[in-house]
Parts: sequence; C-alpha cells; structure tokens
Amino acid sequence: MVFHEPRAPLRLEQRPAPVPSNAEVLIRVEACAVCRTDLHVQDGELPDVAYPLIPGHQVVGTVTKTGPDAPLREGDRIGAAWLGRTCGDCEFCATGRENLCDAAEFHGYQLDGGYSEYMLADGRYCFPLDASMPAVQTAPLLCAGLIGFRTLRMAGDAHRIGIYGFGSAAHIITQLAVHQGKEIYAFTTPGDETAQAFARELGAVWAGGSDSAAPRLLDAALIFAPVGNLVPTALRHLKKGGRVVCGGIHMSDIPAFPYEILWGERQIRSVANLTRKDGNDFMRLAAETRISPRIVTYRLEDANQALDDLREGRINGTAVLTVS
Ligand SMILES: [Zn+2]
Ligand SMILES: [Zn+2]
Repeated sequence: MVFHEPRAPLRLEQRPAPVPSNAEVLIRVEACAVCRTDLHVQDGELPDVAYPLIPGHQVVGTVTKTGPDAPLREGDRIGAAWLGRTCGDCEFCATGRENLCDAAEFHGYQLDGGYSEYMLADGRYCFPLDASMPAVQTAPLLCAGLIGFRTLRMAGDAHRIGIYGFGSAAHIITQLAVHQGKEIYAFTTPGDETAQAFARELGAVWAGGSDSAAPRLLDAALIFAPVGNLVPTALRHLKKGGRVVCGGIHMSDIPAFPYEILWGERQIRSVANLTRKDGNDFMRLAAETRISPRIVTYRLEDANQALDDLREGRINGTAVLTVS
C-alpha cells in the first residue's frame, strides 16, 4: 500500500520484492501496526517524506533473504521499528544518542515500511523476536510501546503520572507503569467515556476529560495527543519540579502561557525517536511483565479503513494490519 502524495489515500500496488544488499535483510511481513505518525505522513505534516512511500514502522516478520553483511539469518523472526538506520559516527551516534542522529532514516518516512508483503530493513537495526510471540500482539510494541517506554523513562522517578491522549502508546505504557507501582491519571478527549473506562480497566487510578482538573497535583505528565493546548493544561496540574514530556513527533502550536505555571523548576521536554537500547530494554520488559496490547485487526488491503478509524478515534488500543 503506497502513498503517492500528501492528503491522498493509500493505493494498492504490485511490485517485485526488493533485493537486500550490504547489511540489509528482506522481511516477509506478518503484521504491521498502525501509528498516528502514519496519519501525519498522510496529512503532509512532516517534512521530507520520500514519496512514493510505503508507510508502517511497527513490523513483525521473518527474514527470507540476507545481504552479505547482514547480522541475521534466513528464518530469523524479527521486529522492525521506526529507526531504520543511522550514520554511526556523528556526535549523537558516538554518545549513545543515535535517536538524534542528523542523518538517521526512518521506516515508513524516508524508507519503505511494513504496509506491504515484503520489506527491506537494515538487519543491524532489527530486534530479534521469539518465534512464539504472536505477530499481531507484538507489532504495537514496536512503536507505541517503544516510544511510550522512552516517554515514561523521561518522567524519571515520578510516581503520580498524568497521561494525555489515551490511545495506542498510552494503553501499553499504562500496563507497564501500573506494574511498576505508579499511579496513572488518564486524560481523554472530553466526553470519551469509552476511553476513560478502558483506562480504568487497565489500572488507571483516575480517568476523566482533558478539560477536568486532576484530583491531585501530579509528578509528571506524558502527552501523546498531538494537541499543543495540552502543554499549558498539563503544566497547571504539575507539582513543583514536575515535568511535561511530549511523546509525539508532531504537535499543533503550543499557545502562550504565563511564566508562573512553569516556575518552580517545572520542565517541558520532547521525546524523539528511539535507540536500539530502548528497543532491547523494552522488548525484554514487555515479555517479563506480559504487556498485552488491545488490538483491532484489519487486512492489509483495508489499511485506508484502519487509518480512517484511527483518525476518527474509533479504536481503543491499536489497529494492526495482518499480512500473511
Ligand atoms: Zn509510530
Ligand atoms: Zn549519526
């Protein structure tokens, strides 16, 4: 399924399977989860999208061919995520911050992704997966889970954590945070009682609309909704020294706000991409804590329907395309 231009639906196309070179592998895709970033790509909200482009960056599949330098073998079960490759020697790559590499390329953005039967990936950036891990349950961990994990990690040792936007990332990371003994306060679109009930079901101690005040001041707030207005809203509910962490790749403008709500050593920070260390740490934790994403499956050829359902907020959990 291919995007040819911004603000247009995906088109189904037949192409020959690509041939891996160097460290690349050819993956037979089993499942690919749908991310809000795919909507930002569709809407032309990100710079430098490489059209025509196959989106998708939460891929579970099996290696069917390998380039001569690939660190994987035919038959290996792997996950491919957003980080496609990095330069390996810039100041960021050299200091454990490959997520910030200026020359990084991302699946489903500059590199073709997993809304496809076959996909190329640099084998050095794939995550080995156990053959017993079900594809549709594992795919959402590869972005929603991973970016959610990095976002949660940025909250440091916060105990009372607000989450704004209770979608794919939030429902996965809530399970991990509750397992770690943290208190989750879930803020949804006002009036979205289904999402609020879903949050409580997953262990949130409180759930309500983003227009309501939290029942107590919070140590940190994680924002997954691409809505800049939520930044000052979240700041107002933070304790001194607290932190707002923005987990999305795109956000509408943040409105001006009075300095006094930032005062008291409150902080705002963003989360960009992921490192391979995040991926390996999180996949291990996810297996240990038995994180179980709530999924809605679609056939690959119904990817446009999946994108529409995500856009309209009709999905509780994560949409996953099943491929083979
Ligand atoms: Zn994503
Ligand atoms: Zn680099």
